[in-house]
Amino acid sequence: MSFKNLELSQPLLKAIKDQGYTTPTPIQQQAIPLVLQGKDLLGIAQTGTGKTAAFGIPLLQRLEESNISGRGIKALILTPTRELAIQIDESLTAYGKYTRLKHTVIFGGVSQNKQVQKLKNGVDILVATPGRLLDLMNQGFISLKHLQIFVLDEADRMLDMGFIHDVKKVIKVLPSKRQTLFFSATMPEEIQSLSNMMLKNPAKVEV
Ligand code: AMP
Repeated sequence: MSFKNLELSQPLLKAIKDQGYTTPTPIQQQAIPLVLQGKDLLGIAQTGTGKTAAFGIPLLQRLEESNISGRGIKALILTPTRELAIQIDESLTAYGKYTRLKHTVIFGGVSQNKQVQKLKNGVDILVATPGRLLDLMNQGFISLKHLQIFVLDEADRMLDMGFIHDVKKVIKVLPSKRQTLFFSATMPEEIQSLSNMMLKNPAKVEV
């Protein structure tokens, strides 16, 4: 199995090659075709399995192919920690280097000024931690009304860290017509019910 079997576009295949990846990991083999088809996804996978590329690569391809012009956030990736947010943002830089898509990352614990400036320049994809996202939304710096794809990363850790209430607040303002990709390493009852609430007829991928 190679990335060439996954119906990826040249800009993505070239970026993947630059990264030195030769074979898609199991979660990538399963998730990439489903995400490209536009399906909702329940992914049960830990960090280290290649899950960032499993959602990041097809997300970039779908947005690059979509004909919706104009600015506005088209994809949101919500993750519990600053470290994960930065890693995901760096992965988007790597995988998206031959696309025209713009992305940025926001997280708490630092001044908001630079983050707000980047948002004002216009972004297609936003990587965020929940607290700072809600904060900047409440201040009117972020609109999610053009959102097409929502990724919830590490849902079980969101629960452990006490962010589940914030996550639910974010979900409330998302357009109901969207694609949702939900990732968790474990599926305790509260996470199961959150996934039921958020996903429409999802495909399930477990590694
Ligand atoms: P993640 O699970 O997304 O945190 O990824 C774990 C690590 O695996 C990261 O350092 C990625 O750069 C790397 N990685 C992801 N996909 C592949 C692949 N198909 N081949 C080789 N390395 C990969």
